[in-house]
Amino acid sequence: MDDRQFRTAMGKFATGVTVIATDVDGDVHGMTANAFMSVSLDPKLVVISIGEKARILEKIKQSQTFSVNILAADQQELSMIFAGQLKEHREVEFDRLDGKPVLNGAVAQIACEVSAEHVEGDHTLFIGRVTDIHLEDAEPLVFYSGKYRALAEAVTV
Ligand code: FAD
Ligand code: NAD
Repeated sequence: MDDRQFRTAMGKFATGVTVIATDVDGDVHGMTANAFMSVSLDPKLVVISIGEKARILEKIKQSQTFSVNILAADQQELSMIFAGQLKEHREVEFDRLDGKPVLNGAVAQIACEVSAEHVEGDHTLFIGRVTDIHLEDAEPLVFYSGKYRALAEAVTV
């Protein structure tokens, strides 16, 4: 099995899109990620998966905190900014939730403290203990087969 076949198969799992953000000494860093999952209700835990080459990896290890910002349908440009897909640098303003940097307009802002980290292959899984949540009433951005999409209502039968 080659890498392309693996990525094509994984891309068949439609996901939302998040920006993970963290803050080291007031310097905020963000990264686009779709490897995000709810883990536990009691206690409230989530997991993210960060590639070994991503600059944010060392920053989360240092800060031991991060936020998960589930992007809204009109935030595709933010996804591209934080995936390094735009050539020019754009200034992005962050709000704060429980002291963690968060993106205004995200469908959900989830503030976390790292409760465990596990190196698996070429990624590190961070388990985050959720310390606060802020929700907005908006439609989410969707990622499927390497392309951004929007939600459509299912046809009822
Ligand atoms: P950098 O290359 O350092 O930063 C990414 C970009 O964000 C740069 O252009 C930088 O200028 C900008 N940026 C960072 N902070 C700020 C700031 N404060 N203000 C303005 N701009 C800023 N990778 C994973 O490891 N796990 C995943 O789950 C994952 N999912 C992805 C899902 C999608 C839909 C996409 C498109 C990519 C995904 N990636 C994922 C890949 C990842 O987003 C990129 O490889 C990313 O560029 C690597 O992050 P980095 O920390 O090295 O970021
Ligand atoms: P793609 O075809 O590369 O990705 C499709 C799916 O494959 C992703 O949704 C993810 O589930 C999986 N995948 C891709 N790269 C991976 C990696 N390095 N490790 C583990 N799983 C991975 O889609 P694309 O639009 O070409 O992606 C844009 C860029 O973002 C690519 O460079 C891709 O590698 C990266 N990306 C990385 C991850 C990740 O590290 N978990 C997830 C998504 C995208």
